[in-house]
Amino acid sequence: MKKVVMIGAGFAGLHIFSKIRYLIGSKIELTIIDAREYSLLKPSLPEVAFDGAPISHSLVELEHTITGKGAVFIHDKVTHVDAKANTISLKSGKTLEYDYLILAPGAVKNYDAIEGFSEFGYSVCDDTQAQKLWKKVRAFEGGKVVVGSAKSVQGNRVDAPKLTAPCEGPIGEIMFMLGYYLREEKHLKQVEDFKIDVFTPGAIFFEDVGPKPHEVVGRFMKEQAIDLHINKVVTKIGKDFVAFDDGTQMPSDLTIVIPPYTAPKFLLDSGLGDEFGFIPTDTTMRHLDYFNIFAAGDSTALSQPKLGHIAIIQGGIAAASLLKELGEDIAIPPHKLSIFCIMNMGGDEATLIESDYLYDNTTDIAFHSPIARMMKWGFDNYLHFSRGNMPPEFAMNMTEKLIKLLK
Ligand SMILES: Cc1cc2nc3c(=O)[nH]c(=O)nc-3n(C[C@H](O)[C@H](O)[C@H](O)COP(=O)(O)OP(=O)(O)OC[C@H]3O[C@@H](n4cnc5c(N)ncnc54)[C@H](O)[C@@H]3O)c2cc1C
Repeated sequence: MKKVVMIGAGFAGLHIFSKIRYLIGSKIELTIIDAREYSLLKPSLPEVAFDGAPISHSLVELEHTITGKGAVFIHDKVTHVDAKANTISLKSGKTLEYDYLILAPGAVKNYDAIEGFSEFGYSVCDDTQAQKLWKKVRAFEGGKVVVGSAKSVQGNRVDAPKLTAPCEGPIGEIMFMLGYYLREEKHLKQVEDFKIDVFTPGAIFFEDVGPKPHEVVGRFMKEQAIDLHINKVVTKIGKDFVAFDDGTQMPSDLTIVIPPYTAPKFLLDSGLGDEFGFIPTDTTMRHLDYFNIFAAGDSTALSQPKLGHIAIIQGGIAAASLLKELGEDIAIPPHKLSIFCIMNMGGDEATLIESDYLYDNTTDIAFHSPIARMMKWGFDNYLHFSRGNMPPEFAMNMTEKLIKLLK
């Protein structure tokens, strides 16, 4: 029996678990370690922050989800991996051995990198931040709102698209859902009572998709008089301003940011990352330096942008690579990435975006419809009630058919 250990039970980790668990007890002993007791389903966090949805809907309890299928769950933080000795050190002082290691620890949202964030900044990227933001939004009586992404950096060891902001999708949800809430629930007038400005560190907003999503998002921004400011790298958030590295400032009564994404520290400390700590893999999701380590999701250097959809594609590849290694008769899917997300815009408004503009450039669509809102609702609910599983094949096939019709 091979000892397989996985670090991280987020989007990628839970998907890999669903693909390899049939071998538990016959070919593998599987142990999953996560620093959290509840996995966080981040795509539904904007509903917590702008609609007051209960946080419980964005959580998947891990202990029973994992032990119920015969694996071992350890609620602890990994502090070091000795990839030469095949051992893992935990914060509690315990050490584990492995034959195969799967790394899926996601990316760190580095709020501390922005001066003044802890005092004056807001975000939507985790359970604490989303609930804090909902309190602020409920009490907001109008004024200037500034929304944007901080700049992130990435290494050069693998060939991945270079992006200044690895996850700008939530910015779309923040600006439209906040506008909807303030207009419809608080009866404030956009522009007269509140004004939303958006900044991006890049030369292009939503640099991971092509002209069609730009046109659709741009049209709604124009309708709502949301102004866009490009090439703005945030350096400081104050009580009533946001400052940028070009020396400019914008007045702000409410500043909401997606912070820089950095790699988990233990990856850098353990020599498992590239120059910035993100895991270098080949396209079968095998570590470039260690044959018995596989990785998937936001912590990998190939994951650009850092999206749940990409974590799922990579998770499927990493699982197949491990299964093949263990002697299973399985084909490893190609590392064929695309952007797929459904941007909630408040009420029954949503836009489905599917684009491989960064990669093969065969698809670039934006479908604005209540159907997209219904799909997002179905997806988030399925993910929650099935404890992190992806929707069934027929639902994925239906989505693919819809996308073909829209192409
Ligand atoms: C607000 C928001 C909205 C989003 N909306 C969408 C969307 O609509 N569609 C979409 O496709 N993507 C969306 N994303 C992106 C998506 O959530 C991420 O890409 C996805 O969660 C990445 O999956 P992952 O498994 O790599 O990492 P995660 O889901 O972050 O999971 C990593 C896990 O590893 C654990 N871990 C980390 N370090 C350690 C350690 N040292 N020891 C033990 N455990 C550790 C963490 O506790 C965590 O449970 C959104 C992101 C945000 C912030």
